Amino acid sequence: MTLPHPERPIRLLLVNPAFRESFWSFRWWLEMLPGKRAINLPLGLATLAGLCPPHWQVAIVDENVETLPLEPDADLVGVCGMGAQLERQREILGYYRGRGYRTVAGGSFASLCPEEYGDCADFVVAGEAEYIWPAFCRDFEAGTPQRLYRETGRVDLRDSPVPRYDLLDLNAYTTVSIQFSRGCPYRCEFCDIIVMFGRRPRTKTPEQIGRELDRLRARSVRSVFFVDDNLIGNKREAKRLLRYLIDYQGRHDYRFAFSTEVSLNVADDAELLELLRAANFTYVFIGIESPDEASLQETGKTQNLRRDMLAAVRAIYAQGIDVLAGFIVGFDNDTPETFDRQYRFITDSGIQVAMLGLLNALPHTPLYARLEREGRLLPRGIQGDNTKPATNIRPLRMDYEDMVRRYEDLFRRLFHPAAIARRIRVKMRHLRRPKPLAQYSKREQARIVRRLLVRGILPGGPPRLWSFLRTLAAASPEARPQVITDWIAGLAMRDYLRRHFGADPMRAERLVRGTADWLRRRYAASRPDGLPRITAVFENGRSELRLILRGHVGRVFPFRALRRLERMLRCSAAALSLRIEELSAGQPDQIRELLRRLEPYGQRVSIWTHEGLRHLLPVDSSTFHVVLDEPGS
Ligand code: SF4
Repeated sequence: MTLPHPERPIRLLLVNPAFRESFWSFRWWLEMLPGKRAINLPLGLATLAGLCPPHWQVAIVDENVETLPLEPDADLVGVCGMGAQLERQREILGYYRGRGYRTVAGGSFASLCPEEYGDCADFVVAGEAEYIWPAFCRDFEAGTPQRLYRETGRVDLRDSPVPRYDLLDLNAYTTVSIQFSRGCPYRCEFCDIIVMFGRRPRTKTPEQIGRELDRLRARSVRSVFFVDDNLIGNKREAKRLLRYLIDYQGRHDYRFAFSTEVSLNVADDAELLELLRAANFTYVFIGIESPDEASLQETGKTQNLRRDMLAAVRAIYAQGIDVLAGFIVGFDNDTPETFDRQYRFITDSGIQVAMLGLLNALPHTPLYARLEREGRLLPRGIQGDNTKPATNIRPLRMDYEDMVRRYEDLFRRLFHPAAIARRIRVKMRHLRRPKPLAQYSKREQARIVRRLLVRGILPGGPPRLWSFLRTLAAASPEARPQVITDWIAGLAMRDYLRRHFGADPMRAERLVRGTADWLRRRYAASRPDGLPRITAVFENGRSELRLILRGHVGRVFPFRALRRLERMLRCSAAALSLRIEELSAGQPDQIRELLRRLEPYGQRVSIWTHEGLRHLLPVDSSTFHVVLDEPGS
């Protein structure tokens, strides 16, 4: 166990675990944007760093943009995480704890379920951090830390510090996060936000936000996302903020493009919409969930009821503000016909980024409690990402398998290139001229368009090129960047779907089996000293090829194998696991080249290297899934 030296400042490492690839990681989208590696930065960790005693030495590692240090110079390691990061968060905590570091778990999932960390973290900080984190720091320094720090009251956000943006590489993110409020007045049955933050929105002062923007201005940031779950939860305070932002933007040459999440009733308030436009909000994310009144009623989404939701979306477009939205299928009221109604609504609304999810029950939500009472929770574990084709709920009026199949099919229909183009044309009919954005230089913009053409449009042949040109022709010159963005978003989602959804699992299985057989034959033929062990594994619908490399594996093996491995990964959702136990002289270069070529398959490639090889062959955990625990240990 590493103990802090009594006279030395505490060295704290804060870690944001890598997300497994999901819709939300927008990997293909990021590939289009020069220098960008993730969408959002870990704002919670930057805030936590701002709450540390000033004499502590704090570093932040975001595994989504940089590799995890395996032997950090730290007395304490804090690892945060949302539900979608739980597996990796636990793995990282366990790794560091096993090496004698003291570990503390936090983040939104630890706040909901602190009991999940008993075996991997020494301490858990659950709930809003502003008051309990400084208490933990004091106790840790005094050598009397408790096992659990839980916030049971509500934090006054005026006590929240300016986040330590200086500890992050802001250029690696497409947008920089900022927070004005916590809490939401509504009561959607599935929502964990109101469980964590309550139903009375609390806000920072506009001047606090001004100070945070000053820091971001000094770091040349241009795109800022308000992470509030509902920025207009308290409309009076939201308007006060927006008036402040308008004034701020005026004083600073309309420096920032803002975006945020709001509820659909934003469309009822013309003044609010005008203020959003005047402050330069370029898009809003809205939980629309369902076009069916009965489903909205069932889930308590009252703010979407008894209104023309299409008209509401168009009222927002009319201010030059784009709409991204969340949709859910799998409510008790939903039937097989629901999928068509969802398709029609999404098409008619022109919403391109339509995050369609299966209803999932998160622990401690009213939905979870109800389904538990009704005996309808399935033992599938917690689904942190609801855009996966699985849920922990037994549907009421549909067969489970049929629902999942229709869900995948709806996604595929929505992201067919013709459907992407149709939605763009619809949007262009209603979107008022957006304010010009200047996040990228002219040269970077040209590079983005070139990449989109080469990697996204031209591979679809003349029909896709024709669709693309028609959408450009339908837009005003000011709206063309929006058309480009929508194509990138649509094709990014299509790319994810192609690899993860509806892919014939038998095809993945056949490819893994075929690749394994081929490798075994070639290996035997090349007579290397150290035959690799090759295993094809099929578990829970997942197909994986496992390769164990030990000893001299032949000079040409990695390159011969590469083409087969690439084909397997490109043509299916299969995974690859490489366990590198031993290498002979000269082979690290070969393996490095192999890894370079496997980079496009990212977190689907798991790599474990023997501890003695880690300096010789460092593997970037922000690219691959670096296995931290020794299998079997
Ligand atoms: S509007 Fe959004 S944040 Fe508010 S309760 Fe509903 S889902 Fe939660």
